[in-house]
Amino acid sequence: MEEKLDFARVRKLMVENQLISRGIRNKKVIDVFLKIPREKFVPEHLKEYAYEDGPLSIGKGQTISQPYIVALMTEALDVKGGEKVLEVGTGSGYQSAILAEMGCEVYSIERIPELARTAKKVLEGLGYNVKIKVGDGTLGWDEFSPYDRIVVTAAGPEIPPSLYNQLKDGGIIIMPVGDRYFQDLILVKKIGTRMERRSFGGCQFVPLIGTGGWKDEGEM
Ligand code: SAM
Repeated sequence: MEEKLDFARVRKLMVENQLISRGIRNKKVIDVFLKIPREKFVPEHLKEYAYEDGPLSIGKGQTISQPYIVALMTEALDVKGGEKVLEVGTGSGYQSAILAEMGCEVYSIERIPELARTAKKVLEGLGYNVKIKVGDGTLGWDEFSPYDRIVVTAAGPEIPPSLYNQLKDGGIIIMPVGDRYFQDLILVKKIGTRMERRSFGGCQFVPLIGTGGWKDEGEM
């Protein structure tokens, strides 16, 4: 007989072995990762790998990021609840769910319509009210700006100016910045006319395609 995977158990192991052991300390972040069913955000045939220590394919050449990277970005965003957050790169919707569960008002942009549609369905099914639109996220979502936080989950050559302009004073933006294959996870805090920049180290993300990112190579 086929054995059913105990997702709650593997989720707990993921939190202990991948997040806490690598230094994730924020209790709220840990609790949210213990709660959100990551298996719902991956394609049916990959559900058994949902809690593995790496990114997984979600189709259309895109990925759901490694749990640790999502946790690191979430912790770095330093949200308390109530913040207005813009996410660029909805992908599976997992990062959106994490932020919504943290009490944020989440706006998310995805350039691939099929992914946006699937993410919306999964998020609604779990009861999260995330506003999603299809478009070029490097231009931001001016209608609802300014944002307290902006999280970019695809890698670009630099922080797109439109995103920086849509950030509140005192706000934080986090994004992988580098070339198409290797990047640094960069956090920028906007303080008046000054920007405070810090690096969280190396990472590898899929490319940010658009006006403020890379050109589409048409390989999809
Ligand atoms: N946050 C996602 C999650 O939790 O599953 C992971 C996203 S995946 C690593 C990056 C996503 O960014 C892909 O779905 C890709 O299509 C999207 N993307 C790339 N360039 C974009 C752009 N200019 N605007 C919006 N989305 C973009």
